[in-house]
Amino acid sequence: MPVRMVDHKSYLFCDMFIIMAKKFACGDVVSGCGWSTTANDENELFQKISEHAKNDHNMTSIPNDIIQKVKSKIQEA
Ligand SMILES: [Zn+2]
Repeated sequence: MPVRMVDHKSYLFCDMFIIMAKKFACGDVVSGCGWSTTANDENELFQKISEHAKNDHNMTSIPNDIIQKVKSKIQEA
């Protein structure tokens, strides 16, 4: 069934796009910060954000309300 195969491929292609890049600009949460990052998924993104928060904002742990704010600002890259 060639038509089905094409459908399946384009579905996978779309799926890859959805899973692909996420981006986050720190300035959306911390005003004045020019740092931004992209990652392949939310976990990777959060790793990068927590590194940045630790190094540049002296946050050894990120409070839950900040995490919620960050989550609401994450965009598809
Ligand atoms: Zn920042």
